[in-house]
Amino acid sequence: MKTIIEPFRSKMVEPIKFTTRSQRMQILADAGYNLFQVKAEDVIIDLLTDSGTAAMSSEQWAAMMRGDESYAGCASYYRFRDKVADIFGFSQVIPVHQGRAAERLFFGCFVKPGDIVPSNTHFDTTRANIEARGAQAVDLPCVEVQSPDSDHPFKGNIDIQALQELIKAEGAHRIPFAMLTITNNAGGGQPVSLSNIAEYRRVLRTHNIPLYVDAARFAENAYFIQRREAGQMTKSIRSIAREVFSHADGCLMSAKKDGMANMGGFIALNDEQLAAKIKESLILTEGFPTYGGLSGRDLEAIAVGLEEVLSEDYLQYREAAARYLYNGLTENGVPCISPPAMHAVYINAQAFLRHIPQSQLPGQVVACQLYLEGGIRACEIGTVMFGQHDPDTGAESVARQELVRLAIPRRVYTQSHFDYVIEVAGILAQGKEELSGMRIVYQPPALRHFTATFAPLTTTKGCNPAPRRPASAAV
Ligand SMILES: *Cc1c(COP(=O)(O)O)cnc(C)c1O
Repeated sequence: MKTIIEPFRSKMVEPIKFTTRSQRMQILADAGYNLFQVKAEDVIIDLLTDSGTAAMSSEQWAAMMRGDESYAGCASYYRFRDKVADIFGFSQVIPVHQGRAAERLFFGCFVKPGDIVPSNTHFDTTRANIEARGAQAVDLPCVEVQSPDSDHPFKGNIDIQALQELIKAEGAHRIPFAMLTITNNAGGGQPVSLSNIAEYRRVLRTHNIPLYVDAARFAENAYFIQRREAGQMTKSIRSIAREVFSHADGCLMSAKKDGMANMGGFIALNDEQLAAKIKESLILTEGFPTYGGLSGRDLEAIAVGLEEVLSEDYLQYREAAARYLYNGLTENGVPCISPPAMHAVYINAQAFLRHIPQSQLPGQVVACQLYLEGGIRACEIGTVMFGQHDPDTGAESVARQELVRLAIPRRVYTQSHFDYVIEVAGILAQGKEELSGMRIVYQPPALRHFTATFAPLTTTKGCNPAPRRPASAAV
């Protein structure tokens, strides 16, 4: 069949509240043009993140009824542990309430000041937790990631040569372990190939450096390996995932992504001594090691979700959904990072709004206009998120790229929702020359994108001048 359909149907629905353009104009102004400050109920299509936003399946809800809420040794833990051990191949499984809790605990036991931790690209909370230990998080992305239009199949790969140079320059003794993010979220959700992982491991092993994988989207990465890497087509997603983790000493996982759960995560590894140390510190902040800050029903939902995410029907649909959105946007004149990832499509705001310099926040302009025109919430990943502000001199630096991420919650939206997003983006494209930049009005000292406020540079109606509507959208 040519048509790839959603491999599920709805049993329960969540109504969407519609707003008018003039209401959204007011909502935006009230929120200081910061979409993190907009109430979820005022959003029509919420593509802010794919984290913790999945729709759970009937099997997950059923399993939750079986949740055992005993403080110690609950049955839900053992089901969860056995599922993680089965899929990932590690014997020690430590539940935590989400990915960054895993990071804080793991780095707390394993990283000391002056250490260096390389990765293809560290996710922002991973980097922050490494730096909070006084260590250095080093990104070594492959060179292909720098060309937004290149169709390289594995733009998430780590640069092995750069790794060798790092080890030579700094000494292996400064690297307590290495990491790898699959798929490479901060690098546009691009996958890492099995051969790159094996080569990474080979080099690390010659220096006795262990490898830990940031596994948030391990199933999506395995699907890309199956579809794109030579010789992998006949293997199952499960066996590819198993092979990926056979090269690692352990993994950290945010179950809010490929765990198909709304909350949760874990650390899995084979080193019993290290696991014991992590559990000691887990008890201080997260809870007893058989629940780790989660309720028994959360553990059940994750155990079922990890099985469901390996379904090829599901992964094929998910890839098709991202590609559908990508194709529609590019056909409507909105340039996106190529090839599309699975968990998100990234608009290249710099290429889209060439007349707006980076210092005038083209990504934020696109994000605000998507909301204004269609009630769509996306996430700026550009100068607002990564630019630096010097509070003493007032100097501002800009980000490497100006992207707007349209993240796709798992099993939530249908093809007609995407048709709507594509149509709204088309309205932006038609009137893009009339859009002007934005400036920051207020910013906090750290993680400014969550709470900063903004203002349009030229205001006619309290917001960016509206792009004129094409006749077809006049209704
Ligand atoms: C989301 C994410 C994390 C952090 O997980 P949280 O559950 O949000 O704390 C770490 N690494 C990657 C790659 C992620 O996508």
